[in-house]
Amino acid sequence: MSLRPWRDIVRRQSRQIMVGTVPVGGDAPVTVQTMTNTPTPDIRATIDQIRRCEDAGVDIIRVSCPDVESTAALKQIVRGSRVPIVADIHFHYKRALEAADAGAACLRINPGNIGSSERVAEVVRAAKANGCAIRIGVNGGSLEKDLLEKYGEPCPDALVESALDHIKLLQDHDFHEYKVAVKASDLFLAVAAYQQLAEAVDCPLHLGITEAGGFVGGTVKSAIGIGSLLWYGIGDTIRVSLSAEPEDEVRVGFEILKALGIRNRGVRVVSCPSCARQGFDVIRTVQALEERLQHIRTPMSLSVLGCVVNGPGEARETDIGITGGGNGKHMVYLSGVTDHHVQDEGMIDHIVRLVEAKAAEIEAAEAELQVVAAE
Ligand code: SF4
Repeated sequence: MSLRPWRDIVRRQSRQIMVGTVPVGGDAPVTVQTMTNTPTPDIRATIDQIRRCEDAGVDIIRVSCPDVESTAALKQIVRGSRVPIVADIHFHYKRALEAADAGAACLRINPGNIGSSERVAEVVRAAKANGCAIRIGVNGGSLEKDLLEKYGEPCPDALVESALDHIKLLQDHDFHEYKVAVKASDLFLAVAAYQQLAEAVDCPLHLGITEAGGFVGGTVKSAIGIGSLLWYGIGDTIRVSLSAEPEDEVRVGFEILKALGIRNRGVRVVSCPSCARQGFDVIRTVQALEERLQHIRTPMSLSVLGCVVNGPGEARETDIGITGGGNGKHMVYLSGVTDHHVQDEGMIDHIVRLVEAKAAEIEAAEAELQVVAAE
């Protein structure tokens, strides 16, 4: 039994599928996705953007394929990417056939939108032949006309019915390697639709609050929507949709997972808002550290507190802690214990070095454990 039951998230048991080499659903870690925004035929720019997203930790990346020039570029993009590529197709089933042949690991396509059962059969054939998964993406902003007429407006029932209709088309063609999203920009609509869908199907669910907005507003909206679903145990893969760079979407996605303790990557920073008691400029220090520590992948924690009011308490719970003191002299804690003082000057460089050393220590300990386990 858990010692902290109030922290437990009981995850919905979904069927696992593979998106290339990445498992999605079942007991696989919740994956973080984003989407490129470069013109797909610009292979160099697209691969460069994928690389930045990989550095931020992306697991799966989606690339738009609206035309034949895009699917023609896809083969090289797939080759240049270290993570599986999802080809985003909307209506042209031939783009799906080309994308599958080009090595896409997944096709984002709604089978009900491509015109006929024969076309669905062709797409399924191509997906099976190339080991592609399919992602059905229902969106509150582009619901089918008949469902809008039936329900009068986008509502959870309409989104779920749309998803079930698309799913049935794949199942009728004996295709089961699919995952589904029922996104909406309205938080209440999206969350209710996902909750309803989670009861109705066993496939993995791709979470997103679509068109969430700019960096700050969209982050808040996504954290509430995606975060509350994950908290209910719903969701196998997430994409935060922001009017911001794709690598920022990835960072926000990981922050949501980190906040819920679902998946850790890199440095979890605990910091105070600062006030007149601060012994150093907390805001500028945290900004600089977040920037300088992006390359750290090893999960660990760092507390940055302006004074002794809350500093020692937070430092006790983190791998490395710094608490502001008087006269530009601040206390550094290692593994929760007071260790040494640091002066204002060179403090950020000093903390970066400490974090890098701690990350190396954790990695070495893990590598040793693996060797012992293999013996
Ligand atoms: S930890 Fe100290 S500096 Fe930071 S907000 Fe609290 S009282 Fe202010």
